Amino acid sequence: MKKWHMVVDLAKCVGCYNCLLACKDEHVGNSWLPYTDSQQHHEDKWINSKRVERGSVPYTEVAFVTETCQHCDNAPCAERCPDAVIKRPDGIVLLDAARAKGNKNLADACPYGHIHWNEELGTAQKCTMCAHLLDQGWKEPRCVQACPLRALSVVYCEDSEFEKIVEKQKLKPLTDGSNQPRVLYRNLYKYNKCFIAGGLSYIKDGIETAATEAKIKLSMNGVPLKETYADFLGEYKIDRLPKNSGTYTLEYIMPGYKTIVKQVEIKEESPNMGCLTFEKE
Ligand code: SF4
Ligand code: SF4
Repeated sequence: MKKWHMVVDLAKCVGCYNCLLACKDEHVGNSWLPYTDSQQHHEDKWINSKRVERGSVPYTEVAFVTETCQHCDNAPCAERCPDAVIKRPDGIVLLDAARAKGNKNLADACPYGHIHWNEELGTAQKCTMCAHLLDQGWKEPRCVQACPLRALSVVYCEDSEFEKIVEKQKLKPLTDGSNQPRVLYRNLYKYNKCFIAGGLSYIKDGIETAATEAKIKLSMNGVPLKETYADFLGEYKIDRLPKNSGTYTLEYIMPGYKTIVKQVEIKEESPNMGCLTFEKE
C-alpha cells in the first residue's frame, strides 16, 4: 500500500514562512470536517520554521528547521489517546474531530508539541497533511505547494521504496526515539552537528595576507578524519562533526612555513579557532 511521506531540506529552506501562510490560508476560517475544524487566527502554527544559528562571529551560519506533525507510524499520541487518534492506511495521522472536542488530554498527548488547543472552539487540533485535498486528488498539501524553494516535498510510495530514498538521500528523523516519523530531513547536520572554523594568514612584504594555499587536516587520536583547504579569504570550515564528540587535532600546513598544530574539544557549540598566522620555516 502506498503511503505519504514528507521530506524537509534544511539546505534549501530560507525561513520565508510561506508554508505557514499557506497553512493559515487553507485552514483559518475554513472548516474541513470531518478532517478538522478551522484553525485559530494567530495562536496555532501547525507548521512553523525555527531559526537556528551555529558558530560564533565571524564564522556563523543560520538555518531554518521547518517542523510539523511527523505523522508517526508509532505515534505516542495514539498510544496515549487511542480512541481519539486515527491512523489512516496511507500513513496520515488524524485526530477524530468529534473526540478531540473538549479533550485537553489529547492536546498534551504529543511529546513534540504538535497538537494544539483551539481555545475558540474548545478542541485539540493538528496538521492533517491537507488530507481533505489529497483525498480529492491533490498531489501535495498546501505548505508543500507554497514552498518557493522546494524545501518541502512529499513522496507517495510504498514504504520499501521510501526506505531506498532514505538511504540514498541520507534522510534523518528530527527526533530520537521509536516514534518512526513520516516527516524526515535532508541536511539535518545544519541543525544538530557542529563545525570547526577559522582563518589563516601569513606575512608577505610586511602585510598580513590570506593563506589561500593552506591545507587543514583533522584527526582524532592519530586517526585521520577529514581534510580541506583554505578558501580565497584564507578561511576554512570543517562541518558535520557530532556534538560532544571529544577532542580533535588540527594540523595547518602551508609549504615553506612551519606547520601549526592545535587541539579543540567539541561540546555543544561549533568552535571558532580564530585567525592563525604561519611563521617562516
Ligand atoms: S508528531 Fe505528535 S501529533 Fe504527530 S503523529 Fe507524532 S505524536 Fe502524534
Ligand atoms: S515555505 Fe519553504 S523555504 Fe519558506 S519557510 Fe517554509 S519550508 Fe522554508
